[in-house]
Amino acid sequence: MSLDYKLKEACGICGVFNHKEAANFVYLILYALQHRGQEGAGIVSTDRKNFYEYKSTGLVAEAFDKETIKKLKGNIAIGHNRYSTTGDDSFVNMQPFTATISSGNIAIAHNGNLTNTHKLRKTLTAEGAIFNSQSDTEVILHLIARSKGNIVTRLVNSLKQIKGAYSLVILTKNSLIGVRDPYGVRPLSIGKMNNTIILSSETCPFELIGARFLRDVKPGEIVIINDKGITSLQPFEKVEPKQCIFEYVYFARPDSILWGKDVYMVRKRLGELLSQESPVEADVVVPVPDSGVASAIGFSQGSGIPLEFGLIRNHYIGRTFIEPKQSIRHFGVKIKFNAVRKFLKGKRVVVVDDSIVRGTTSRKIVKMVRAAGAREVHLRIASPPIISPCFYGIDTPTRRELIASSHSIEEIRKYSTADSLSYLSLDGLKEVVGRKENFCYACFTGKYPAEFE
Ligand code: AMP
Repeated sequence: MSLDYKLKEACGICGVFNHKEAANFVYLILYALQHRGQEGAGIVSTDRKNFYEYKSTGLVAEAFDKETIKKLKGNIAIGHNRYSTTGDDSFVNMQPFTATISSGNIAIAHNGNLTNTHKLRKTLTAEGAIFNSQSDTEVILHLIARSKGNIVTRLVNSLKQIKGAYSLVILTKNSLIGVRDPYGVRPLSIGKMNNTIILSSETCPFELIGARFLRDVKPGEIVIINDKGITSLQPFEKVEPKQCIFEYVYFARPDSILWGKDVYMVRKRLGELLSQESPVEADVVVPVPDSGVASAIGFSQGSGIPLEFGLIRNHYIGRTFIEPKQSIRHFGVKIKFNAVRKFLKGKRVVVVDDSIVRGTTSRKIVKMVRAAGAREVHLRIASPPIISPCFYGIDTPTRRELIASSHSIEEIRKYSTADSLSYLSLDGLKEVVGRKENFCYACFTGKYPAEFE
């Protein structure tokens, strides 16, 4: 594997300040953020003297046990769920990253993707820096290590040199720091539980641990959480926020409040609007679980067509699942989904999903629904066609692999074998999310908010 290989980091991050069970809470938060990354998980804690860390591949429940959590001492901790479907899940790339710099120990966890690290890495390497991983995040650590001043000055100085999407949680001996890049591409929220402050990629873990949602970290904001409380800095030049629209479409958990809106309600409304934009005569609405559920409910309520769970998803396929040989055709999708014949036989079915990426899932699902006896299968997608890859931390494939980048909607319909196919319009999506100029739509438009290397 070449060291030039670029990892895509679209992950879940969190931190807990001032709780005697900090690592245990981080573990619970990571558990609730599992949908943001299933490749591996890591926690670093401090008892304000030493740092303690544990990282492992697999789901959070597989990665940690009671004994490992017990060893993560102290009342400040940060954690990371790793998501990288494009390759290297080797241990060296697992986060949080730790280092000892002149001001002491530091640990960092990153959600996002930097877009100018190639040059920085080259310069740093030429100057003698040694990199242990292929991850962008290590570049930030090197920049911090080389900067002068206190940790916050060093951090600001380093972040001013990098471009791209980053939500960060940083651990020092006495503080927890949270950062969102100036465009605020990836989310990061602050929660509170008595005297404990929590940072989390999403709000869904707050209720789980008995915390309340305080507010979002703002785009371009650095929050420093220490014994004096929360200090806020906004050291970057102000730009118009460009928050990732795909967080609403697919990535975030439906029970999170994202940038002021319930994800569930947004998705439901997308489905409702889709039913008005692209109505269809049908007997039943069937969601592709789990990603299409909220939109399908909206489609059903908007159209008056009853909803049934005509597809059931197996939730327990771990990463160690061994794919059988070609001899069992389409086994991959069958182990993941199964059709409930009773709701499909002889029916005109509307299948609703959040998005089409390569087109493989929808093709297999349409075929499965038809094989279960459906008379007609109509595909409705609650977002516009994805035509461009994401360089800001969602793992979408290259442009060539994105079916909508080179095929018309009619060609995609033919490929999917559906009787009809419609996507939600971009205007419809913008209308639902509101504050439309504050989002990045690059995956749907090819227009990126900033230039990159
Ligand atoms: P595909 O089969 O490549 O068209 O993928 C479409 C399915 O993948 C849909 O059910 C989506 O909910 C889901 N999906 C969309 N974006 C992503 C992503 N970045 N990572 C994993 N799954 C995704």
